[in-house]
Amino acid sequence: MAKPNAHYGDLKDSYLFYNIAQKTKRYLEEHPDKRLYRMGIGDVTLPLADAVIAALHEAVDDQADKARFRGYMPECGDAPLRSTIADYYRKRGVSLEDDEVFVSSGASDELGDILDLFDRSSKVLVMEPAYPAYVDANVMAGREIIHLPADETIGFLPAPSEAALADVLYICSPNNPTGATFNREQLKAWVDFANAHDSIILFDAAYEAFIEDDSIPHSIFEIEGARTCAIEICSLSKTAGFTGTRLGYTVIPKTLERCGMNFNAMWVRNRTTKTNGVSYILQKGGMAVFSEEGQRQIKANIEYYKNNARMLMRTLDELGIQYYGGKNAPYIWMKCPKGMGSWEFFDYLLNEIQVVGTPGEGFGKCGEGFIRFSTFGSAEDTEEAAKRMLSLLSE
Ligand code: PLP
Repeated sequence: MAKPNAHYGDLKDSYLFYNIAQKTKRYLEEHPDKRLYRMGIGDVTLPLADAVIAALHEAVDDQADKARFRGYMPECGDAPLRSTIADYYRKRGVSLEDDEVFVSSGASDELGDILDLFDRSSKVLVMEPAYPAYVDANVMAGREIIHLPADETIGFLPAPSEAALADVLYICSPNNPTGATFNREQLKAWVDFANAHDSIILFDAAYEAFIEDDSIPHSIFEIEGARTCAIEICSLSKTAGFTGTRLGYTVIPKTLERCGMNFNAMWVRNRTTKTNGVSYILQKGGMAVFSEEGQRQIKANIEYYKNNARMLMRTLDELGIQYYGGKNAPYIWMKCPKGMGSWEFFDYLLNEIQVVGTPGEGFGKCGEGFIRFSTFGSAEDTEEAAKRMLSLLSE
């Protein structure tokens, strides 16, 4: 008999986005004359940059030409793109060899697939509130998960401690959902902790492009000692609007070893077995992201989202409401006013002003009492939502 992986039975229902969809659907059925201002979903809304679109078109034409046609791509990524991404790091003072960079189909795929490198008995640490995939991917594999609470009293940024002892440590900075960012000293403490305990950090840098402050590292590899204890997973989804196009990259230093095994070599073996490379067309589009023109254009898009963030932050400042994130991250993590719970405040905003956020409780217990606003919507909707919040919450 083919036995199913029984660990799937241990997964909790992913009720967060389902519940939001149900509640908004019901509201619209009951109020057909209303429209919603959706500030909940973490998906981009601006189209791809012109330089990327031009490169994608060119790549499609290459595939129609016998001389330029490309078949299977190298499993770990096309050499020019690996080198271009390594250059992107080198410009920030992080020295990488080209073959320490692996091209991927996005961070979600990698966050799941990379777990192949770790023994099933490995304990994993998830700082909560957290991006839900960290927990679910490990539940599916039957791993023990340590849920480390990261609440407001510590700015949602836990420091290493006995309670954090685990083999695999997830760190997401800038953080989804809280928008909190670890500074150099805080990350150095985690790197030292990981090296001291032979743990490995999985550093999720999906939002690095939103960092404005120089004091905040874009990469874990800006921290001394990280080359012996970290893997970095990054994505062009939010950086360059690739959520539907799919492209990312993963950095595994050749110096990362445990029990005499080399993680870079293992990942090469994994990719050459389990993938046939990312599409030529997408990699050519990805190359354009890192061109001078591409960088200018994606920065303009990020600036558009940052303007949305500034609009919301101004409103919350005016209201005197506590919030986190917004400056170095595309999320604003707002404290629900008047001691309201996450879902209670969600309902209040939906019913009173038709603004939809994401209840913080859905990201883990420590998220109770907070709501997450995404700044990836249109400027018009964000402005209207901010105006409505100002008038509702100053009452
Ligand atoms: N990591 C974090 C923290 C995210 O918020 C997301 C997407 O929202 C991802 C990873 C997944 O990104 P991708 O679109 O590259 O799969």
